[in-house]
Amino acid sequence: MTRARTYLDCNASEILRPQAREAVLSALDVAGNPSSVHGEGRRARALVEAAREAVAALVGARPAEVVFTSGATEANNTVLAAGWDAIAVSAVEHPSVAVPAEASGATLTVVAAGSDGVAAAEGFARWAAAGALAGKRLAALQLANNETGVVQPVAEVARLASEHGFHLHVDAVQAPGRIAVDFGASGIGSMSLSAHKIGGPKGVGALIMREDAGLPASLRGGGQERRRRAGTENVAGIAGFGAAAAAVLAEATAPARLALLRDRLEREVRRLTPEVVIVGGNVERLCNTSSLALPGLVAETLVIQMDLAGIAVAAGAACSSGKVGASPVLTAMGLAPSVARAAIRVSLGHASTDSDIDAFVEQWARIAAGRVSAPHAAAPVARSDAPRQKQEVS
Ligand code: PMP
Repeated sequence: MTRARTYLDCNASEILRPQAREAVLSALDVAGNPSSVHGEGRRARALVEAAREAVAALVGARPAEVVFTSGATEANNTVLAAGWDAIAVSAVEHPSVAVPAEASGATLTVVAAGSDGVAAAEGFARWAAAGALAGKRLAALQLANNETGVVQPVAEVARLASEHGFHLHVDAVQAPGRIAVDFGASGIGSMSLSAHKIGGPKGVGALIMREDAGLPASLRGGGQERRRRAGTENVAGIAGFGAAAAAVLAEATAPARLALLRDRLEREVRRLTPEVVIVGGNVERLCNTSSLALPGLVAETLVIQMDLAGIAVAAGAACSSGKVGASPVLTAMGLAPSVARAAIRVSLGHASTDSDIDAFVEQWARIAAGRVSAPHAAAPVARSDAPRQKQEVS
């Protein structure tokens, strides 16, 4: 008998929610272009606008502030490429923020994160105070980190943004359904979201922006999305995104359920391997994420061993040019290489159950019993402004 697989990589992509699947499939059969005035066009338009309302409601925004995009990467790139004079980003941003920040030509400041994974709000404060006359300024800070789940001090930086008059962009991709997101009350200038991180389809997301934010269109051409993103809308994807957003909003108890599962997983892992390092374990984290390191092991090997046992998890480290390197996020936290190279990410989602946790723990026990340590450098790595390695992080 083949055993069902255990999917614990929901920060990379959530399992499609049934409501989203249904919405995608029925939208595919709507012939009209949302810009057409006939009945078919109006049906397509209605699907897009219903989804806009659902996505807005999910994050406490107004529907007019929602611009549908191809995903969070497009949303982040659009904001970072908007012609800033000075940009500050945290050292633990996703590459879809960090890479366009480097390419922007703006004066770039990378704000350090501590060994707990929290970016230093004081770093943003110093930057804000020093650059009072520095022209058009942008700060980018994620709501929560995709690798560690560590929640960032966005409220503090939003206060600084109001006080000093800079634009704050927040990558909120990992937050909905896990921690509260309130765009309207936040003082945030713009925010990015991604459908496939909340149980919607891949390849669709949103840039939430204040109407007076003055951001340029991400694509130019037709007048779609109020001239903020040209091109015929991905109606089926958007409908699936809306359905997933509505499902997340209706599930008020989901974070508590996920936290119970995640906490049990960590208790069992600690019992089996007391030397385990739980990255960000002492600070506020997303309820679904656990970054676990058995010092000396190589994360990639662990991921393969887990995969062969039918369990999907992610490596904090990724292969680049044939070499296994520590992830830039874990490196920026100043973790010892033996820890940074060993960290795997376990991320739960709406379909996760107790038996998924049992399967993971059973396999963790096997791996721990048969482990062979990998050689590693003893020297500690530099924090924050360490050069970024080119690798894929999802
Ligand atoms: N930001 C974060 C924090 C992410 O985790 C991801 C996806 N891995 C992205 C941005 C990019 O999102 P998308 O896949 O929609 O381009």
